[in-house]
Amino acid sequence: MRVGIIGCGVAGSVLAEMLMEEPGFSVDIFDRLPPGREEEAGTGLTCGPNAMKALRLHLPARHAAVRAASLPWTRWIIETAEGQRLFDLPLGEVAEEPGIRLRWPELYRQLRAPVADLTHHELELVAVEEDAAGRLVPVLEAPDGARLRPRGYELLVAADGRHSALRRLTSGAPRPALHGIAMTWLLVPDAADCPFDEYGQWFNGNARLLAYRLPGGAAHVAGGFPLASATAEIPPEARTAAAQRALYTPADGQACPAVAWMVERLAAGVERIRWARLQDVPLLRTAAAGRVLFLGDAAHAMVPTLGQGATQAIEDGVIAGAVLRRGGGAEDVGAWRDTRIEFVRRFSLEATDTMFPGGDPVAGSMAKREPEFLGKLRRLYTDVPGPEEFAPVRV
Ligand SMILES: Cc1cc2nc3c(=O)[nH]c(=O)nc-3n(C[C@H](O)[C@H](O)[C@H](O)COP(=O)(O)OP(=O)(O)OC[C@H]3O[C@@H](n4cnc5c(N)ncnc54)[C@H](O)[C@@H]3O)c2cc1C
Repeated sequence: MRVGIIGCGVAGSVLAEMLMEEPGFSVDIFDRLPPGREEEAGTGLTCGPNAMKALRLHLPARHAAVRAASLPWTRWIIETAEGQRLFDLPLGEVAEEPGIRLRWPELYRQLRAPVADLTHHELELVAVEEDAAGRLVPVLEAPDGARLRPRGYELLVAADGRHSALRRLTSGAPRPALHGIAMTWLLVPDAADCPFDEYGQWFNGNARLLAYRLPGGAAHVAGGFPLASATAEIPPEARTAAAQRALYTPADGQACPAVAWMVERLAAGVERIRWARLQDVPLLRTAAAGRVLFLGDAAHAMVPTLGQGATQAIEDGVIAGAVLRRGGGAEDVGAWRDTRIEFVRRFSLEATDTMFPGGDPVAGSMAKREPEFLGKLRRLYTDVPGPEEFAPVRV
């Protein structure tokens, strides 16, 4: 089977590695960026224990490489901005192994390395055509405007992220659902003195900071606060040092050391903060009668609350690879993945309750210690099928 993958990001790299040595498959990857360039270069990320489980079971060499390039994520705490502890969870209670913390370029470097020989860079998908045999032909544009039509593919995979051109070209641009929360991300490169380590969240009313240390002495600081309405724009006056301080500092000025440290870094780095509005897009798995398969953000960009975007992109790549190797098609990938994806999307949105106006960050955070939430977290972090579930069907 000829497989053309558009986008050598998280899902695209993982799928290509799953297929590259499989007899009967020929794989090409196309990416619009030159080698070594990433769109999220300036921030860090966590991948959940479920992404690591997927790699451990299906791509053990990749699991080892990603582990070695990252710090472990073993604990999750939630406090008020004054420092009152509301929630403290060793992830070992709900997961089989730690998650990871690392910088984006490092994750991409580790995932892309094994598929470098299959990847064609600086080629952007701009159209899709069909050959005489009914195979889809991607039309790819080089930086000088030249257009390339490499060949027809039995399966074209959209792994081109949340603004997927392949999704737009084959199914129309999805309408994102906005949730009325502003999100910010800041990488603090020199964080040797920061008074936190693993994954922590700090609430000042419904405004929330989230932070953790990264390899190399850096720290990742993310913010979030409610907007005036679900569809409101982020007001320009929020993008100032004074507004950043005011958002996260308690009214009496008595912030705990972690929050005081972050507020100063946000104020000093306000020009480098990345901004976005919390949103997701409807799930779509296939198009063109099963000749197009959507993976990762192209299929299901989701709210970042539980850090499952890249995590699910890894699961998608692994499970899609296992299904295709077994002789399945795009619809079969949906049958394996979509119930789980709908659960992850619903759960991620539910877990955002403490940030919505009217949500109670204290009661809501403490409720995360209840069996119902922990049960869902366990399902999230462990419910990953192993290779034995994809054994060839005997006739
Ligand atoms: C600031 C920030 C922080 C985040 N933090 C986390 C986190 O902590 N944990 C987590 O799990 N998720 C996180 N996410 C979500 C995560 O980034 C995405 O869910 C994940 O990258 C999706 O992977 P993907 O493979 O679908 O797409 P991507 O990794 O985005 O890869 C898409 C690839 O397609 C290429 N491409 C795009 N368009 C074209 C085209 N037309 N032609 C050819 N190539 C194209 C791009 O160059 C890129 O290489 C975060 C997102 C942001 C923005």
